[in-house]
Amino acid sequence: MEVFKFGGASVKDSEGVVNLVNVLSKTNSQDTIIVVSAMGKTTNALEKILDFYFKNKNQVSSEVISLKEFHLKIIKDLYKGDGNDCETEVHRLFEELQVFLKSNKSPDYSFVYDQVVCFGELLSTTIIHYYMKYKQLDSFWLDARNCIKTDDYYRSANLNWELTKKNIVDQVRHKSLVITQGFIGSSLSNFTTTLGREGSDYSAAIFAYALDAKSVTIWKDVPGVLNGDPRVFQKTKLLNQISYREAIELAFYGASVIHPKTLQPLQIKEIPLYVKSFENPEASGTSISKGRALEPNIPCYIVKKDQVLLRLSSIDFSFIVEENISYIFNLLHEYQMPVELIQNSAISFSVCVNNKYRRLEELVLVLSSRFNVEVIKEVDLYTIRHFDSSASQFIKKIGKPVLLEQRTQETAQFVV
Ligand code: ADP
Ligand code: ASP
Ligand code: MG
Repeated sequence: MEVFKFGGASVKDSEGVVNLVNVLSKTNSQDTIIVVSAMGKTTNALEKILDFYFKNKNQVSSEVISLKEFHLKIIKDLYKGDGNDCETEVHRLFEELQVFLKSNKSPDYSFVYDQVVCFGELLSTTIIHYYMKYKQLDSFWLDARNCIKTDDYYRSANLNWELTKKNIVDQVRHKSLVITQGFIGSSLSNFTTTLGREGSDYSAAIFAYALDAKSVTIWKDVPGVLNGDPRVFQKTKLLNQISYREAIELAFYGASVIHPKTLQPLQIKEIPLYVKSFENPEASGTSISKGRALEPNIPCYIVKKDQVLLRLSSIDFSFIVEENISYIFNLLHEYQMPVELIQNSAISFSVCVNNKYRRLEELVLVLSSRFNVEVIKEVDLYTIRHFDSSASQFIKKIGKPVLLEQRTQETAQFVV
């Protein structure tokens, strides 16, 4: 079996859906499972709906209507008036979303988030499934939540591999073409969970692992993995070959072209991952597989924007040693603060964190009872793998003060 993953950009409009079906016909799509993300910026739109839901309920319904119109317009463009079944199903999904928003009593943002954002993927796969049928491409629509079982750590749920593997094998094995959602799963009590933003790549890897797939291909709006995000860096170059280990490092440091959890299951079974352009499906793209670490061997640039730098120092000039460090890490864990970079000296400890769960104020309050705490918001973290002299010029050119710098043999990081 092969696994194909189509991200939001590849299905952002009706042309994207038509192209997806073309790619399938060009690639001889028998025994394929297609994992699809929400269309275009739908997940962001659903996040906006959630913000209104928690802060200004009056605005919710107009946002829901505009998201519904976006999807209905795609259906209209696809069928030219012939898409009634698909339309009915889309209306039903929006009805379900509205019923949830009206009846929900939970104040837990992360729980509500997962129950709401899952509709992006449910809508996209429904529309594509109907269109495939219309184009005589018979496929089986699989609700990923019946396969992907997780804990209830909403917005970044952890996989229950054993149950998931069994479910996937039971539900996919004898089907030849399956379409399912990326990003979503369900807890043991059957509430919807999500795997973290951009988690559809990870979903594709989970299906591939469970099915011992021949390969995974993720179809993108770029020619493959480049040595930097082309939206941020100039003159980026295509990386033809990357080893699993190198790709894990790049994704871990924030190369957002691949979700960081994607590589590990693939590496265990040595399943190759191809990153290809959906606009140019015949081109070779990037192969992530066993083999050379990086080809061509050039510096790779990664930036994570809008991070927070915390500088802690001891109030009484005592050393920051194991005991305090473990106390700090326990708090970072408790307040759900992903750590991007740490540096310590005798009496100070700096940590660059991602305030993803918006709990910075609470954390700082607790830390302040034991340390002097300096908080610097909206910093950017640059990581350069395979650092060389041209790369060091690069940081100078950014022209922003470097607040923290750290280098190892292969990686240099700068907080600016
Ligand atoms: P999708 O969700 O459609 O699968 P994403 O938008 O998540 O796709 O990822 C594709 C985008 O990732 C590209 O448009 C590009 O801007 C960005 N990107 C970030 N880092 C890289 C990189 N190293 N190589 C290629 N693209 C990158
Ligand atoms: N739709 C989700 C997101 O935008 C998951 C994904 O696209 O991978 O984050
Ligand atoms: Mg995406």
